[in-house]
Amino acid sequence: MTRSKQSRGDCVFCGREMTKGGLSRHLKTCPQRQEAISKAQAGKKQRLYHLQIQDAWSSAFWLHVEMNGNAALSDLDYYLREIWLECCGHFSQFSVGGWSGDEIPMSRKIDHLFEPGVELTHIYDFGTSSETLVKAVDVREGRPLTRYPVYLMARNKMPEAACAECGKPAGWLCVECLIEEGEWTTLCEKHAEEHPHDDYGEPIPLVNSPRLGMCGYEGPADPPY
Ligand SMILES: [Zn+2]
Ligand SMILES: [Zn+2]
Ligand SMILES: [Zn+2]
Ligand SMILES: [Zn+2]
Repeated sequence: MTRSKQSRGDCVFCGREMTKGGLSRHLKTCPQRQEAISKAQAGKKQRLYHLQIQDAWSSAFWLHVEMNGNAALSDLDYYLREIWLECCGHFSQFSVGGWSGDEIPMSRKIDHLFEPGVELTHIYDFGTSSETLVKAVDVREGRPLTRYPVYLMARNKMPEAACAECGKPAGWLCVECLIEEGEWTTLCEKHAEEHPHDDYGEPIPLVNSPRLGMCGYEGPADPPY
């Protein structure tokens, strides 16, 4: 896959565009975030965790979220499935230490698990597996910014793709090229229509997820709330 350029995303509080690492630092001091925190009324006071989430194999895909300490790992599993992963209801698990590490029950509370520096691995689908790293980078005490367990603070912008035929911006991916040739062939609308491959259906729209093209995943890669 041709996704090497450092991806960037916007801080939801102030709109500044930065890299994943830049946001990790910025979110600690963003004045607009501090203002939102000072007005937060959404729920009970608790420990709130700034989690940096990234695809284990492609650094282009990442999220910064704030998660309620009172919530459970199952809430994070649900969030990851909705925004990135869900194709056909596969099993998933969290562990410390990757594939060989001990599985952590989905019922485990976030604040019994995380402290800054702790990193978990999430695996979705034990066949064509997606692997996600979840690292706690900060913690605060206070009220959440939402009535949901997870608040999205930033995510990578859709990786840019060029049409394999003409070089213009691409919005489509050929699944047959991927499965039969192992080639990541992205296409503009015109060339998607003209592309001769349809053994796996017409080319599918590119979406902002590291699972695109794996198993039956086709998006939509939208946050659940
Ligand atoms: Zn900001
Ligand atoms: Zn599947
Ligand atoms: Zn084209
Ligand atoms: Zn093709």
